[in-house]
Amino acid sequence: TTQKETLGFQTEVKQLLHLMIHSLYSNKEIFLRELISNASDAEDKLRFAALKDESLFENDPELNIRLDYDAEANTVTLSDNGIGMTREDVVENLGTIARSGTAEFLNQLTGDEKKDSKLIGQFGVGFYSSFIVADRVEVFTRRAGRPVSEGVHWDSKGDGEFTLEPVELEQRGTSIVLHLKSDASEFADGQRLRHLVKKYSDHISFPVIMKAEKSSDDEGDDETPEDETVNEATALWTLPRNEISDDEYKGFYKHIAHDFEDPLTWSHNTVEGKLNYTSLLYIPGRAPFDLYNREAPRGIKLYVQRVFIMDHAEQFLPLYLRFVKGVLDSNDLSLNVSREILQNDSTVETIKTALTKRVLDMLKKLAKKDPEAYQTFWNEFGTVMKEGPAEDFGNREKIAGLLRFASTHSGEPTQNVGLADYVERMKDGQKKIYYITADSFQAAKSSPHLEVFRKKGIEVLILSDRIDEWMMGYLSEFDGHHLQDVARGELDLDEVETEDDKKQQEEATEAHKNLLDRVKTALEDRVQEVRVTNRLTDSPACLVVGDYDLGAQMKKIMEAAGQ
Ligand code: ADP
Ligand code: MG
Repeated sequence: TTQKETLGFQTEVKQLLHLMIHSLYSNKEIFLRELISNASDAEDKLRFAALKDESLFENDPELNIRLDYDAEANTVTLSDNGIGMTREDVVENLGTIARSGTAEFLNQLTGDEKKDSKLIGQFGVGFYSSFIVADRVEVFTRRAGRPVSEGVHWDSKGDGEFTLEPVELEQRGTSIVLHLKSDASEFADGQRLRHLVKKYSDHISFPVIMKAEKSSDDEGDDETPEDETVNEATALWTLPRNEISDDEYKGFYKHIAHDFEDPLTWSHNTVEGKLNYTSLLYIPGRAPFDLYNREAPRGIKLYVQRVFIMDHAEQFLPLYLRFVKGVLDSNDLSLNVSREILQNDSTVETIKTALTKRVLDMLKKLAKKDPEAYQTFWNEFGTVMKEGPAEDFGNREKIAGLLRFASTHSGEPTQNVGLADYVERMKDGQKKIYYITADSFQAAKSSPHLEVFRKKGIEVLILSDRIDEWMMGYLSEFDGHHLQDVARGELDLDEVETEDDKKQQEEATEAHKNLLDRVKTALEDRVQEVRVTNRLTDSPACLVVGDYDLGAQMKKIMEAAGQ
């Protein structure tokens, strides 16, 4: 009696498969990177689990990944002797997408191949990328430590359903057989596969083993070809910096971040002394689809003495740097460290402070060395960086230097003016940095508050992101210059104002005393005070907020929150 069952993919999986197959056509080769990445993760997980229970190795402690192909059958097979999966694991992992927000994400996809391939890149494709090159995929897997009879055979054509069947599996771990599409037969080739392993998986921690190619003079003898390791198989971060090429750094980034594109920059450091650790941190070139989802996985990969401990260790960087990808390998933490322990460990706090500084310094360097790349960074992650001054008060001056704003200098909505640029352009005698906040760039730009600044040729920063006014509450100065909201309080343009201007204002106040009183009476309690101003050149009147009152944007946020 067969216990074969047929199950349907979750709707999201069906959608993803369909879109992936159509939009990643020109990125076919990424399937191998994703599968090797999973195999490497599985080996890491086994090594970690075996710290507590050595029997999981089942007398086979050499962790490795095997890659085979059969040109005649048009198949590629990738096997690992890692942690493996139970039947429940298989249903969960290879039948659904667990990540929240996936459905909304998929709805954004347009059917336009170019746009979608970019979007899917943010999502990270994983196991399902097999179906870009294969029209049938089989998975054989057995969880480490489970009886041979608990093997599982998963089989699917990627068209909506899959079958599951129990099988006997001597070998623990997972074996994936790709039945290549006729237009992907190029991958059933030793040279091609070796090349891809070198390109994407050279510096994963485990050997990728292939059969040596038969050379022509071996022809005729039936000796089976020998195994050979085709990658370097040393964890990249353990090598000295001067032995690592840029391409190797980029390749490793793609492996850990599942990104198709290069990172913008990275920082690789080994610290020795009181604490001993190595970190390799990357700034991605684009934001993941769930950057603003508080539950989205974030954080770096944690290793202790080269043993993988966990993914997404979020304790080592503040929330506003959640876009950073990378690896931390510590010699000071215990191998039994858990998320709970990390939360209350003073070593963790020290490393966090150091890594935060590294990231801020790396960004500063990027801004200086490659402004165009920095602009890309800012466009992707700027709004997240704006959470920085509030979350990380101690580094607010450093963060302030990294902020970019739109400005009346260019009059364009692009946020590309740094506070240092502003200070450099300040008028003789100007002491403050002026900014305006509004709901939109257009609203800010046409605000009557800017009239006097335009007249006097003073630059004003234009802040129209939702978070801006809140952020400015945590930033009061930069480089010794007070940051002044132009719509707040008495506008004292002292520095750039002439005695004449002042005298004129005083005289006007005197002359129009009656008018001011009448306006005040008419408006009753709706305003606190009515003043003559030199702020305006074209508009007859404008509203001003008191120095310590809530600004318009904040008011809206509070109202929306029901306060
Ligand atoms: P991700 O790796 O980002 O979690 P994938 O789609 O690549 O997403 O894989 C989904 C899940 O399937 C993995 O998280 C893992 O639990 C499981 N998985 C995939 N490949 C393997 C494997 N070779 N061994 C064990 N588990 C695997
Ligand atoms: Mg994966």
